[in-house]
Amino acid sequence: MKIFNSYSNQLEEFVPIHKGIVNMYVCGPTVYNYIHIGNARPVIFFDTVRRYFEFRDYKVNFVSNFTDVDDKIITKALELETTEKEVTDQFIAAFLRDVEKVNSSTDYLKPRVTDYMDHIIEYIGILVQKGYAYETDGDVYFRVENVQEYGKLSNRNIDDLISGSRIDINDKKENPLDFTLWKKTEIGINFESPWGRGRPGWHTECVAMIDDIFGEQIDIHGGGSGLMFPHHENEIAQSLVLNHHHLAKYWMHNGLLNISGNKMSKSEGEIVLVKDLIIDSNAFRLFTLSTHYRSPINYSEEVLASYEKEWEKLKRAYTSLYLKLDLADALYENAIIDPDLLLIYKDFLSAMDNDFNTPNVITALQDLTKIANQMLRNKTENGVILSVIKLFDDIFSVLGLRVDVSPLNSSDKETYHLWMKARDDKDFDKADIYRNILQEKGII
Ligand SMILES: [Zn+2]
Repeated sequence: MKIFNSYSNQLEEFVPIHKGIVNMYVCGPTVYNYIHIGNARPVIFFDTVRRYFEFRDYKVNFVSNFTDVDDKIITKALELETTEKEVTDQFIAAFLRDVEKVNSSTDYLKPRVTDYMDHIIEYIGILVQKGYAYETDGDVYFRVENVQEYGKLSNRNIDDLISGSRIDINDKKENPLDFTLWKKTEIGINFESPWGRGRPGWHTECVAMIDDIFGEQIDIHGGGSGLMFPHHENEIAQSLVLNHHHLAKYWMHNGLLNISGNKMSKSEGEIVLVKDLIIDSNAFRLFTLSTHYRSPINYSEEVLASYEKEWEKLKRAYTSLYLKLDLADALYENAIIDPDLLLIYKDFLSAMDNDFNTPNVITALQDLTKIANQMLRNKTENGVILSVIKLFDDIFSVLGLRVDVSPLNSSDKETYHLWMKARDDKDFDKADIYRNILQEKGII
């Protein structure tokens, strides 16, 4: 399996640190607002990555945090005249509803910064003690000059960065690139520390939580490409000086989602919230996964609507096959592997093995739909139809697509057979009645 490692900027063979196990961490949301569909991209993509590893029998330890200490949260709490905890509890619940809404799993470890405060303070303390960070007037900064490779992940030159950051003059810092590990404050939520009351900086939270949860280098660290600099660059810097590794063996970044040619962001105005989406969640996943994760996606309502049609086609083929087998009482017969199906299965695996090429998987799914429709028109052995259903199930499970089907009860089956008989007897009035019953129940 090959993964594009953002750190080395090349495709690399995936070799897990521990055989059969994938330890992965994806930066989670700062919880003070509802997420938009651009934020849903990593939620869907990294869920698909996890699903594929599990499909290939890896044990995946998936961790994604909640940043529940932040200036924006404090501002929101002040605005609403409530506590930070009220705000973060509300938006964590809203986030998890949105994750479920896009068919992503909520079954993973979700550390909150407030629950890891002792470890974060301890982590900063070690950096200070070893001389990699320094305190000035209650603030603690990371000393970037010790990190030779600073800027490598985001492909930035240190001198350019320094001249770019000169505008932000801060007398407390030794070097304009040094970043905040601890911020002195008594406004809003704050914590006791060896440097006085304050709160941690965002860049140290993830790395301290990863250190506490995994206690070693992880396999995959993921997030949106916007996090590469400074967030991930700063995570790597801390890990390099303290643990002498790059925190993760493989760094993966998803591209942006654009709307009318602009990045969708809370500050730019034009946004679509996940909670307001009315499109079928499967169609939305198809839309998201139809572009390779490293490329930008262009969003428009028309494009989204085209995936709704696409999903209808897939769903119709699948349910028709399922119904055909159910009516023949052949749902539990033995599957027969057909050479055409084997080719599609291979296409599916090789696409996923090649840096999670989900657009090619969706093409394989469309090929499978064509085969399914041919089988519905022609006489095909039940065992072959069953293997088509199983192949759909495999691909659906990895892409996180769901079709709700369940075997018919005996009275529905009887109605179906009566409908068929009435049609054969050319008793069209009767046939219409049976057809209406089946349609009302959503069976046909
Ligand atoms: Zn992070």
